[in-house]
Amino acid sequence: MTRCDAAVVGAGPAGIAAALYLVRFGLKTVLLEKSAPGGLLLTTFEVENYPGFPKGIKGYKLADSLSEQLLPYADLTHVRAEVTALRLEDNRKVLTVDGERLEADCVILCCGVGYRKLGLPGEDNLLGKGLSHCAMCDGHFFRGRRVGVVGGGNSALEESLHLTKTVAELHLIHRRDTFRAAPVYVDKIKAADNVVMEYNSVVTALHGTDKLEGVTLKRLPAGTEEFLPVEGLFIFIGFEPVLPALPAEIVRDEQGFIVTDGEMRSSVPGVFAAGDIRSKLCRQVVTAVGDGATAANAANSYLEQGNAR
Ligand code: NAP
Repeated sequence: MTRCDAAVVGAGPAGIAAALYLVRFGLKTVLLEKSAPGGLLLTTFEVENYPGFPKGIKGYKLADSLSEQLLPYADLTHVRAEVTALRLEDNRKVLTVDGERLEADCVILCCGVGYRKLGLPGEDNLLGKGLSHCAMCDGHFFRGRRVGVVGGGNSALEESLHLTKTVAELHLIHRRDTFRAAPVYVDKIKAADNVVMEYNSVVTALHGTDKLEGVTLKRLPAGTEEFLPVEGLFIFIGFEPVLPALPAEIVRDEQGFIVTDGEMRSSVPGVFAAGDIRSKLCRQVVTAVGDGATAANAANSYLEQGNAR
């Protein structure tokens, strides 16, 4: 396919919801995703706060049922390919998809986010050799072992709670002494008997070459350093935007997230953004799904008003 009415970049919850609404508006829609559908849901152990699942649901199961809902729609083309650039040619939106050209009358960017790194020497090399961003994927490697978790947000505490079921000892390393995570997670982690709180501490060095042997912890504000032997280190210190090359006209915030209005319209007419890639405070599955539906509605209005040409 070389052209379509609407292209959705990214098949996480926002992209899946956007695609669902676009095809139901009768638009020829292409959903582009470089890996499996589901986005970060695929590495989320349990989703406890998605309405409709009072007992919670495994991330991968929610991802499966979201994407299954797209199956009956013949006007939706699902392409497994990487989008590397978006260009504007007059009113046309042109995507580079695995090196090929795809023209769309409108585009919804739902590219999501990637895990932020500590920025320490050896970090890339040790990923998969002790360092991880996914407790569900890698937690079982550390059964009965001592691990560290870095971060104080919902991701760090939620993933820590999962890890406490398998590891012998978990050191929760946080740069402050209060958490930004929801109280429900803070209360549970404080009640766990195999968690050691490393408040006011930052990791300043990673030790080991073929596998992680430990980390250096710097205590704040004193600045004293000590070695903490751990075989695993799970890093949950927030996210960074994952985006193809974009025209400079698309306004982003200081962290690189796309600025939109409440209808998910970016600063360029016909380009919308939804989900975690958007500049906003609340990044949840439920808000991503809402963003996707809102963006599709705004995109449909944009096309109905004859704006595409
Ligand atoms: P986050 O809320 O941004 O928290 C990041 C944590 O890492 C903060 O505690 C921060 O410390 C710390 N941090 C940041 N940079 C650091 C560095 N360089 N070194 C050491 N520590 C650092 O990120 P998140 O927990 O991944 O959550 C991201 C979004 O997803 C949030 O909106 C969150 O609510 C949402 N989320 C929701 C759920 C849920 O509702 N179940 C689950 C997961 C994520 P400070 O606190 O000092 O800034």
